[in-house]
Amino acid sequence: MILSGKSICPGIARGIAHVTDARVLLAQALDTPSAGNPQTEVERLNAAIGRACVELDRVQRQLSGRVQAADVAIFESHAGLLRDPQFVQQIEREIGESGQSAEAAVSRIVSRLHSGFVASPVTLVQDKAADVLDIGRRLVRCLTAAQPSEAEPDRGTVIVAESLTPSQLVRFAHRGIVAVVLETCGPKSHTAILARGLGIPMVSGIASVCENIPQGTETIVDATEGRVIFAPTASEQAAYEAILVRQSAEISEEDVAPDAPVTLDGVRVRLLLNISDPQEAEDVLKLGADGVGLFRTEFPYMDRDWWPSENESYQIYRQVADAIEEAELSIRLVDFGAEKCPPYADIPINRNPSLGLRGIRLLLQREDILQPQVRALARLGRERPLTVLIPMLDSLDTLEATTDKLCRIVGCATREQLPFKLSAMVEVPAAAYLIDDLLPFVDAVSIGLNDLTQYMLAADRDDEFVERYHDAMQPAVLRLLSQVIASCNAQYKPVTICGELAGDPKLTGLLLALGLRRLSVSRSNYRGVIRSLTHLSVRSMAGIGAEVLKLTTAAQVRKYVAERLTGP
Ligand code: PEP
Ligand code: MG
Repeated sequence: MILSGKSICPGIARGIAHVTDARVLLAQALDTPSAGNPQTEVERLNAAIGRACVELDRVQRQLSGRVQAADVAIFESHAGLLRDPQFVQQIEREIGESGQSAEAAVSRIVSRLHSGFVASPVTLVQDKAADVLDIGRRLVRCLTAAQPSEAEPDRGTVIVAESLTPSQLVRFAHRGIVAVVLETCGPKSHTAILARGLGIPMVSGIASVCENIPQGTETIVDATEGRVIFAPTASEQAAYEAILVRQSAEISEEDVAPDAPVTLDGVRVRLLLNISDPQEAEDVLKLGADGVGLFRTEFPYMDRDWWPSENESYQIYRQVADAIEEAELSIRLVDFGAEKCPPYADIPINRNPSLGLRGIRLLLQREDILQPQVRALARLGRERPLTVLIPMLDSLDTLEATTDKLCRIVGCATREQLPFKLSAMVEVPAAAYLIDDLLPFVDAVSIGLNDLTQYMLAADRDDEFVERYHDAMQPAVLRLLSQVIASCNAQYKPVTICGELAGDPKLTGLLLALGLRRLSVSRSNYRGVIRSLTHLSVRSMAGIGAEVLKLTTAAQVRKYVAERLTGP
């Protein structure tokens, strides 16, 4: 059976399907140990119910007007059951009587209800059995925050799931999975970014795949074409052989070191890598990149059971530093919040995650998270040049508070005495508008275009429903971007762009025309950007940046870029 979806990370792989569906999740939940006494478990349960209701509310809002009212009502009924005192009391009683974790109690009650529904002679009730499982799955997922306790996949498996959080993907990647097939995943979500960074072929947008594919099905994933072949027939196997030939051609291209990042007219661009996992740092020397422009440090916190100590963090940063030798290194303070939270984190779940407590604002309130990381970074900074990136900076007030705190943690009097350089991440439009006021107090700037676009255009980068509005080609975004670049260049402060746009080879010319000379991209885009650079001439771009900024629609920008700023 061949199913088509959307390519999230190209690549071809073959393996055995590991379906992470509700029943597997509920069965695993039975083994979750209790975190403390029954009272604590009941509190966890209530917090999870709150979170699940917020999720359901969001789903309903997203669907209303797009699907039939009856379909929206399904989610309303799910929320109704979650708020039903009888249902909640049953679980609470189970926790009290069994002394087990909230996860185990939810699993037991939901399984019992499910069996009752299945056995009912009334078809209407039978039909609701799947909903009960769905509610249980959601509740267990909310209980375990970002990381449900699932059966670990074996090496060589293809994960088939409704959706994956970044932490699940990290965990699975470390177990050696070969590909991922999802029902939903935003192409600019962190899960997608991570898959590209780790080079895990990923296809998304295949509706009901979890329900339709039995556990253990042989699977071929052609994520380059966005196709998945389940239980391949003899002829499909043969077609796969052809795909394999194509893959080996791609692999042999991978063996050849790319050219240097130099334009047709000899302008040397600094081309760095975005990494999320220390393993990815090994590509820096292999590709001849100028270093790591963004190490998203949240991900090493994911595949663990508890916060890393200062020394553990230092070892991770040291591993990256060793892998890249003398090359440039920028490490970001953790940007927790939104969907990037370690499973054990007691970080509040915000009603609107993107606008809730996250990034540096969270760190300023959570010295227990900030201090060990900063100490580990300071240790590395005393051994080699290092830049520390401040995520989600919004104002000079926050920058001052951050600098004071960093100085206090490290034990120095001024920013200049810190054992690392400081870079402001420009991701919040307010910081972009204030750039001239921020620049005197930082050594560099990193533009996070994923978030800058999200906040500028009020379009959630993880939400597939507003995907078309999350468009960095909108003139409003480009004009703000250009102001930031111009200010940094005027004040001789290095400015690097590190959002996903920086890696789109079709847009390399536009970024050069706007004055950028430092790009940090994911490994999967590195060669494409080099190819673009070698076809572009900076000399011929005089005045082009200004012309682009006069355009008034994203469509005009795209057309202009295709005609004037793209190599052959
Ligand atoms: C960005 O927002 O563009 C960025 C680089 O940070 P992240 O994608 O990790 O949020
Ligand atoms: Mg960001």
